[in-house]
Amino acid sequence: MWTVKLFKVNQMPSDFQEPFIISKYRSSRSSLLCCLKSMFQATNETLNFWTHFLPFLYFLWKLFALSFVHNFLMDSYTWPLCIYLISVCGYLFGSCTAHLFNCLSEHARHVCFFFDYAAISFYGIGAAIAYKFYVFPSSWIGGLLYNSYLPFAAVSAVMCTISACSSRFGDREKLKKILRLVSFAVPYLFDSIPLAARLYLCYSEDCPDESFRPHLRQFLIAPMVAFLFATHFPECIAPGKFDVVGHSHQLFHVLVALATNDQLNALIWDMVHRREYLNEHGTKPTFFWSLGVGLFVFTANMLVVYAFSVLIKHQYFFRKYTGNMFYKMKGRAKVNGVANGTDKKSS
Ligand SMILES: [Zn+2]
Repeated sequence: MWTVKLFKVNQMPSDFQEPFIISKYRSSRSSLLCCLKSMFQATNETLNFWTHFLPFLYFLWKLFALSFVHNFLMDSYTWPLCIYLISVCGYLFGSCTAHLFNCLSEHARHVCFFFDYAAISFYGIGAAIAYKFYVFPSSWIGGLLYNSYLPFAAVSAVMCTISACSSRFGDREKLKKILRLVSFAVPYLFDSIPLAARLYLCYSEDCPDESFRPHLRQFLIAPMVAFLFATHFPECIAPGKFDVVGHSHQLFHVLVALATNDQLNALIWDMVHRREYLNEHGTKPTFFWSLGVGLFVFTANMLVVYAFSVLIKHQYFFRKYTGNMFYKMKGRAKVNGVANGTDKKSS
């Protein structure tokens, strides 16, 4: 009564199959109640949910606690921190709900991950706003990148959502995976330029230990995260052994949450200790260039998600009702691939 029926990979539609994960799949036609019940059952998504739901509660509490320390309503200098924390809560919530409800249907699975990608992209602009007003190296303040940083970051965030959502179309799995990786890597690399420069230049007043160490740690975690995403380690060396605990996506979630915590601590330190210098030499955060940019990216992302949700529905309609031979042949090939253990997909 309190458990849901679970399936093997060869019993699942190809869109639901995860690389090297052999068992403990939920039905691809689960009800809402089944999704909720599966939170407390050992499925291959359970820890994907908890590894972002618990950090979500932690950062929500941080946002609440910091609102008592800083005046988020009246002090415009703290708005970048506020929008950053909202974006952190947003991407963690988007991720855990996507992992919980993606088994409602094939269409719902795609829509869930569209929202997940939009939330990650929104987090990217949240971090960029905080970098702009707290992290830029002193010697770069007032320069070309400093003045053009946020418009470029906003455009790259929206492009990231479009590109990541489009990676769910088509049948070439490797290409889709590369496209998704590039979609997130490009804005991440661009947004990180001021931080990388600050760490590299490391003027004595710019790199106190309290800020330098957490900034460096979160920076070093990024290649590890990319490695896990690209290789599916450790389940790639022992398929089926990490179906419930320890597969790459859970490790990926844990590392991302730890990196976010380091990022937050470093940002708070910079915000508090560089305030005098930044007020004197930098641009003060305005509503438009902090919350306004965040709202712009959020709205654009929601429109992108809506557009792709409609598009993918039409794709299913096309597959279902046209009797297209191409899709039928592809489907048959995939079933054979599964039986041979060669067809692998990822979310
Ligand atoms: Zn995830």
